[in-house]
Amino acid sequence: MESGAIQPTLDIDAVRADFPILNRPLPNGKRLVYLDSGASAQKPRQVLDAVLGCYETYYSNVHRGKSTLGLKVSESLEAVREKVRAFLNASSSDEILFTSGSTLALNVVALSWGRANVKAGDEIVVTPMEHHANLVPWQLLAKEIGARIRMLPMTDDGRLDLSRMDEAITSRTKLVAVTQLSNVLGTINPIKELADAAHAVGAVIVVDAAQSIPHLPTDVQELDVDFLVFSGHKLYAPTGIGVLYGRREFLEAMPPAFGGGNMIERVHDDHFTPAPLPAKFEAGTPPIAEAIGLGAAIDYVADIGLGRIAAHEHALTVYAHEQLKSLPGLVIYGPSPARKGGIISFTVQGAAAEDLNFLLDRNGIAVRHGHHCTMPLHERLGVPATIRASFGVYNTKADVDALVEGLLAARKRLRLT
Ligand code: PMP
Repeated sequence: MESGAIQPTLDIDAVRADFPILNRPLPNGKRLVYLDSGASAQKPRQVLDAVLGCYETYYSNVHRGKSTLGLKVSESLEAVREKVRAFLNASSSDEILFTSGSTLALNVVALSWGRANVKAGDEIVVTPMEHHANLVPWQLLAKEIGARIRMLPMTDDGRLDLSRMDEAITSRTKLVAVTQLSNVLGTINPIKELADAAHAVGAVIVVDAAQSIPHLPTDVQELDVDFLVFSGHKLYAPTGIGVLYGRREFLEAMPPAFGGGNMIERVHDDHFTPAPLPAKFEAGTPPIAEAIGLGAAIDYVADIGLGRIAAHEHALTVYAHEQLKSLPGLVIYGPSPARKGGIISFTVQGAAAEDLNFLLDRNGIAVRHGHHCTMPLHERLGVPATIRASFGVYNTKADVDALVEGLLAARKRLRLT
């Protein structure tokens, strides 16, 4: 990935001091080497303080009545919505819907926009590198409606083959659903080109930004996307809060996905009128303190600067590729570091991913093993499971060195020659 303009490198000691969990030993006394931010990022003190501060000083339910606390907490929640709007450069905060995470947000698009717009015989285009969260909701929709799933072709090194894009995106395409950054290969996909291709045939584009949001500056207007989702917990915020961005004209026309409190204007015995945006898509009590934490997390990454975070993680990715490639039998999946974010998935010949994971974990090295919710991708890679190391703002070269040493020790333990 391009690191953009030259900027002062980040103060890694100061960053690491912000994350309490990184500064205490594990129960077995080892230093935590956290290389699993792709699954979920650790939380800085600033986010923890914001969540606790909400509960300790102004917690109440939101949008209910006009009590002092109710007003304060509702204002705080809406301020986070505005912060997310600015973070994504959406044109209105009405286009920012709070959900519990990327998975729910994608299901909302499928249940609401999908059911209203996709017809029998239409095609939904996905990519072979989609997380199940950006695949199964479309499969459910396709089955219900009688639509078809099509795959964009992918190159051997794990990039979308844009030269063959029009094999998949055709006049039958209704929707293109694509990840901005693969959670296994690390591939950064060309979202603007895909949006242009989708729009050229009258289709809409849904972007899964779950992995890209902590690493790439995201401008929904520049990318010209119709829907985009992300999860707070991968952006140093709490679990349980996520975002669905939707273009206003779509959200206005879509029926609510879920019914309940807050999403209505009026309810009668046998029908209701929905509330205006964004409440129309926010049935029930939202994750209030979690959203406050998301606001603090956005401030946190904005203060450091996403460009600086991206440059730091890119340097680590280059270094890790160099170091890991020297290990015998180690195969890295996906493109070269120039074309990817801070995710490295690999196998080691003769060693089960599960065994490696176990042996690394005993040394304090947290990675992830398995199919990472991408079974179709692993089928294409021809392996049942990979080990994934994924970087966050707090990782260092020493973490990469610990991974390499851990793998060497695991090789010995497994008696690999
Ligand atoms: N998409 C991608 C690319 C992901 O990596 C993940 C999380 N592993 C998701 C979607 C789902 O996110 P969540 O579980 O937070 O809903």
